[in-house]
Amino acid sequence: MSERYSKSDIREIAEYLVEDLRECEDGTVTTTGRLARASGYDDMETFDLFDLHDALFKAARANHITLDMSEHKDKVEGLPFNLTFVVRNKKAQIKCPRCGSQNTARYIYGYPAFSEEMQKMLDEGKWVLGGCCISSVEIDGQRVETMPARKCNDCKRDFATAPILMTPKTETVEDYRDVVTAIKFSVGGFFGGYTDITIRKNDKGAVVKVQKTLAYDELPDDRQISPTKWQKIVNTLYSQLYLHEWKKSFVDPCVLDGTQWSLDISLTNKRKRSYSGSNDYPPYWNELLKIFREFAKI
Ligand SMILES: [Zn+2]
Repeated sequence: MSERYSKSDIREIAEYLVEDLRECEDGTVTTTGRLARASGYDDMETFDLFDLHDALFKAARANHITLDMSEHKDKVEGLPFNLTFVVRNKKAQIKCPRCGSQNTARYIYGYPAFSEEMQKMLDEGKWVLGGCCISSVEIDGQRVETMPARKCNDCKRDFATAPILMTPKTETVEDYRDVVTAIKFSVGGFFGGYTDITIRKNDKGAVVKVQKTLAYDELPDDRQISPTKWQKIVNTLYSQLYLHEWKKSFVDPCVLDGTQWSLDISLTNKRKRSYSGSNDYPPYWNELLKIFREFAKI
């Protein structure tokens, strides 16, 4: 008997099944084995299913999905991938980075086999057919697909494309996550003063500097973070918050002072991307604050 799936295959399948978990009703009861079979992986050996079960729980956690197996606690009942769990996915609903709607659909590419289940997902706006044209670019010898992964059912715009930066003048294609050199977030108001948090990449990872405009505020010391931590921050900005798809300015003209904020991203070759707002905020505002709250009270 030979191993049929590699570790990276298993991870990829788990990532794929997480999308099913995201799209099912909150409170759905299922098993890892059942999910795998429903997606066409009905030839998996026991040891593959063991691995898949672990990978699925890990991927679900990373996507804020809870798979509750508490009813099996302290019982001896059999193979974990055949035991039921309850899916809790309310916190996992992806928001459109433009309008904030949680009513978004996943693009299905290629020629999928038609089924009743599929029709149901299309009718409910959870899936949308993307056709069979798969476009891609090459970055550092790797093919990266350029099609959007999702469509907003409210503002009708596509989103969740790979964070690719194309510069026609120099004919270069880069991944934003590889070229970010510094992140500066500033938030505050005229009366309360401003807090600036700057995270600048260096050869040991990145250094975090906190500054405040009001002199009596106590400032934390500069803090060195690891390369893994730096990469995680950049990944969160682009892979989970879709920063490359945000609009640049958020302004509520009806309020004169109040809260002002800005987010400046420095890229290699002195390039910059700036986002700012005045009493108006991007859909992923809370998620953005979460990144910086670790370093300063904001
Ligand atoms: Zn939208």
